[in-house]
Amino acid sequence: MRAELISVGTEILLGEILDTNSQFIASRLPALGIDLYYMSVVGDNLERLKEVIGRAYSRSDLVITTGGLGPTDDDLTREAIAAVVGEEPRVEPTLEQQLRAFFAARGVSFPERNLKQAWLIPSARPIPNPRGTAPGWWVEKDGRIIVAMPGPPPEMERMWNEEVAPRLRERVRGAVLVTRTLKTIGIGEGHLDEMLGELTRSQNPTIGVYARPDGVHVRIGAKAADEESARALIAPMEERVRAILGEYIWGADDETLELVVGRLLRERGLTLATMESCTGGLLADTITNVPGSSAYFRAGYVAYDPEVKVALGVQRGLIESHGVVSAEVAADMARAARAVASADIGVGITGVAGPDPLEGKPPGTVHIGLHDGETAQVQSMTFYQGRLATKRRAVTIALGMLWRHLRQNTVRQGE
Ligand code: AMP
Ligand code: MG
Repeated sequence: MRAELISVGTEILLGEILDTNSQFIASRLPALGIDLYYMSVVGDNLERLKEVIGRAYSRSDLVITTGGLGPTDDDLTREAIAAVVGEEPRVEPTLEQQLRAFFAARGVSFPERNLKQAWLIPSARPIPNPRGTAPGWWVEKDGRIIVAMPGPPPEMERMWNEEVAPRLRERVRGAVLVTRTLKTIGIGEGHLDEMLGELTRSQNPTIGVYARPDGVHVRIGAKAADEESARALIAPMEERVRAILGEYIWGADDETLELVVGRLLRERGLTLATMESCTGGLLADTITNVPGSSAYFRAGYVAYDPEVKVALGVQRGLIESHGVVSAEVAADMARAARAVASADIGVGITGVAGPDPLEGKPPGTVHIGLHDGETAQVQSMTFYQGRLATKRRAVTIALGMLWRHLRQNTVRQGE
């Protein structure tokens, strides 16, 4: 089945909002065995909407639109679809009742403008939308399907997961594409590709190597008649990849570094404290995005000023002799964070977020220390792509160090 995606909204064309709906849907089509051939964005303009939807309808088996189902004059997706399939919209009494009940239940009077959200055309069936007022449209005509969904992501995502994807799954008989992503840290793209050798030339499953902010990802993708057969193709390949890259692989698919680190801390019954300078609390924020992090995260200090670092126990002499941006101070921040919070492991981050240099050190200089009560280790980098990128990269390095440290200790314990 050939599909085409259309995002509707002038806001997208003006760059005011990012078209995340397309990414959401596009990432879910391969597993359904649906081939996506085109993606377009069109503004809230009836002529251009008709043109784009009409072209999609003429060349694709499945057209999916998001947006333009609101009640206002510039929400024109229904009008455009009706024109493309040559049908007249009319108010559907049951939908009208539901709509009026929706407003009544909230004690709000019914704006007559909303009535068009109760429209249908003969070829359309409504798609329920309990998260909003506008039902979607499932249009079937001449062997083609048009699915129209609302723009707000919470409404669209629920409608996709609960209503649209299950119906499509029943309809499609194409080969499905299933992927498995193994995530690594501590090795570059080129080296990794080299280590995989001939595996990267495999046809089914295929292997893709991608550099991402949290390390290099290895994506194994298999095409087969159904999901189970695709997974059966992936499994032996995953084993081979793990045999080669095992020591670098920290997680898979939707896992994040903070999630994996949190799991290891919890398993080992260890606690963590952080002291951050240039990252301004981003590391603590990232760690605490994981539900249940209170089980292992004891404290995160944002010690921006050198005097505050000293007040928290960092040795003044180290700051004076090495500068506040130094490997020595990062290690001592880790030691002090651990001590003041009575944690098992401490992490310290100091650096120059930029754009200006500090102590003669260039922007992008970052030192990350980790202290486990016995020894300290430090990782340093100097690489500048902007202030936010520096902060994010420092956090990723810190989490990577934690992962490596915890994993090595787990291995040692198990020996
Ligand atoms: P609309 O139904 O087109 O009026 O869209 C309503 C709201 O949904 C917009 O103001 C956006 O906040 C959101 N929205 C619409 N289209 C998209 C999209 N393609 N990606 C992400 N959000 C969207
Ligand atoms: Mg709109």
